[in-house]
Amino acid sequence: MKATLTVLGSGTSMGVPTIGCDCAVCHSTDPRDRRTRPSILIEYSGNFVLIDTTPDFREQALRENIRKIDAVLYTHAHADHVLGLDDLRPLSFHRPNKIPLYARPDHAAIIREMFRYAFDAVYKFGNLPQVELKVLEAPVDLFGVTFEPIPVIHGEAEIWGFRFGSAAYLTDFSEISDASMEKLSGLDILFLDALRHKPHPTHSTVENSLKIAGRLQAKRTFFTHICHDLSHAETNQSLPPQIQLAYDGLKLEFEL
Ligand SMILES: [Zn+2]
Ligand SMILES: [Zn+2]
Ligand SMILES: [Zn+2]
Repeated sequence: MKATLTVLGSGTSMGVPTIGCDCAVCHSTDPRDRRTRPSILIEYSGNFVLIDTTPDFREQALRENIRKIDAVLYTHAHADHVLGLDDLRPLSFHRPNKIPLYARPDHAAIIREMFRYAFDAVYKFGNLPQVELKVLEAPVDLFGVTFEPIPVIHGEAEIWGFRFGSAAYLTDFSEISDASMEKLSGLDILFLDALRHKPHPTHSTVENSLKIAGRLQAKRTFFTHICHDLSHAETNQSLPPQIQLAYDGLKLEFEL
């Protein structure tokens, strides 16, 4: 089945440019150096599956002319991946059912707490997001396609990446276990966290993700969750052609 993957955002938690920063990348005129918070959209057979709802979701949805979201998968409950949940509102009205939001049990509990007004409130004036949290503990079938959670280590926490068909999206990690690496063979498209060159306690670096990409041998690998240390053009020149930095608005066709 043909599918299209759109990179809604490729930036780290503070986004690029970062508020108040005077560095060269934050002042770059290259549009690929403008990075909103990390998220992707997958479209197949008229279905739209979103991974994470970032604080930039509204801008991303307007930019990409998103008219429909059929399901959301959450990688984890950090602010840069969930704070746009309320902006699902206009897409959640005029549907036969609530938009399902899939998250690991512990992440679902945090999201429920963060958005208590949406899940627990009785608000007689309406306009609450019409969404429903669903606990995800195993691969899930969404409209005929299996989305498999891939556990990764993000600092001290275990969170999820996802594999779907010949593509995998691993946005925040510092380590990938051998068991998870085994689930990532034979990929056409692979997304890996690559924050910057300097080591970070909860994120992978360009150098570390190059090693992982070398082991996994996906046809095309894209780095994401990028901070302002990396200029798009300069960094890409230093990378092999099959491994490149992602950028906001990048669209990829692949087989599910
Ligand atoms: Zn993040
Ligand atoms: Zn900067
Ligand atoms: Zn995170």
